[in-house]
Amino acid sequence: TDSVVRELEISRLSTRETDFEARLESLLCWEGVSSSEVQQRVDEIIEAVKTRGDTALVEYSNRFDRLSASSMEELTLGAERLRKAFDGLPEDQRNALAAAAERIRAYHQHQRPESWRYTEADGSVLGQQVTPLDRAGIYVPGGKAAYPSSVLMNAIPAHVAGVREIVMVVPTPDGVLNELVLAAAHLAGVDHVFTIGGAQAVAALAYGTETVPRVDKIVGPGNIYVATAKRAVFGQVGIDMIAGPSEILVVSDGGTNPEWLAMDLFSQAEHDEDAQAILVGWDAEHLAAVESAMARLLPTMEREAIIRVSLKARGATILCADREEAVALINRIAPEHLELSIEEPESLLPDIRHAGAIFMGRYTAEALGDYCAGPNHVLPTSGTARFSSPLGVYDFQKRSSIIHCSPDGASQLGRTAAVLARGESLTAHARSAEYRIKD
Ligand code: NAD
Repeated sequence: TDSVVRELEISRLSTRETDFEARLESLLCWEGVSSSEVQQRVDEIIEAVKTRGDTALVEYSNRFDRLSASSMEELTLGAERLRKAFDGLPEDQRNALAAAAERIRAYHQHQRPESWRYTEADGSVLGQQVTPLDRAGIYVPGGKAAYPSSVLMNAIPAHVAGVREIVMVVPTPDGVLNELVLAAAHLAGVDHVFTIGGAQAVAALAYGTETVPRVDKIVGPGNIYVATAKRAVFGQVGIDMIAGPSEILVVSDGGTNPEWLAMDLFSQAEHDEDAQAILVGWDAEHLAAVESAMARLLPTMEREAIIRVSLKARGATILCADREEAVALINRIAPEHLELSIEEPESLLPDIRHAGAIFMGRYTAEALGDYCAGPNHVLPTSGTARFSSPLGVYDFQKRSSIIHCSPDGASQLGRTAAVLARGESLTAHARSAEYRIKD
């Protein structure tokens, strides 16, 4: 077994080593996607779509997705086509998609923030009114693979938030439509689908063209062209986040079947070569058992090559002293996905301050959350869970402050405001407040 394990090239760290901090630092380090060449390319594409609209959109789609469309009409799908895709699915796929959509909808319905108000003693009313966006744009990646689950995860919260119009874009390389993606769009309440992708699709959503309506916010993952374009149009429209490679941190107390944990780590690593899978535990023998299981199971994986590269480049097992050290590591790493494969995970929860999604106990495989548990799978990556949250209903809403002064309230507030306004030499402000002071 030793040679098998050695063949599995995964970094082994221990918090006891003197160079642990430095090794952890380099393990976690991720140079965000930025390249001046891509930047320049994307700027050109955005400018072209902004000035030449549909014509540029069709040109770029033909070039990058190897199509031969002559107008945007050919790259537009209506509600009827989406329904047809859903009806045409094999029964098991139709049922699985519908079950996932139902659970995702139920979960997000709990997230709806309420408008609120309160009345002060003088009769003034203060509050907050929550309103949905008018129009949201959903980017669904489609260059190398198709992601029906991403359609559900991005569009359902928008629908639950009450967004009036949901516009989806998805590239169709070589013109190949993915029926599951279209069926998911039907289930999730998407209004229009355009089969365009890359920076040109982001530009079209941000500025609008003759055919593509301009949206208020663009959400959804994509490759470097998509991410760079989203960053470039931010301000013109809202964006959700700039996602880095996917990651998982599994914490094990030694009581979970090593094969289960090996597969949980693989399920992250198989996403792509840059994905990160880390196992943390305080039982050295158990960590070695999981490594053996990984070495044994790896040759049976369809995506063996990708998993191998990902584990070698960015994977690790980390031996720590105890639960307290594990908690410190979790908060330091702020993982996108955290699996607490331990007895009584509830007891650890109050100490966990930074994590995108927390999978509790031995039975909660992260993969269940990717598809159908209910919570969103669009999560903060690369340590950004320190300051951001999963995609949710709140990302498709905004808040307006409500201030309704009674005559008494205006008189009281007028005195305070006038003093402060004169302090700032803003006389109109002061007099506007003073007019409403009762003698
Ligand atoms: P994509 O839809 O993001 O990109 C395809 C588009 O890229 C093409 O339509 C084309 O317009 C553009 N493009 C490609 N080469 C170009 C070039 N040389 N110049 C200009 N534009 C070019 O699909 P993808 O490439 O498969 O990438 C999908 C990404 O999304 C992956 O990185 C994947 O990991 C990520 N993803 C993330 C999540 C998540 O939840 N975080 C989910 C699914 C996918």
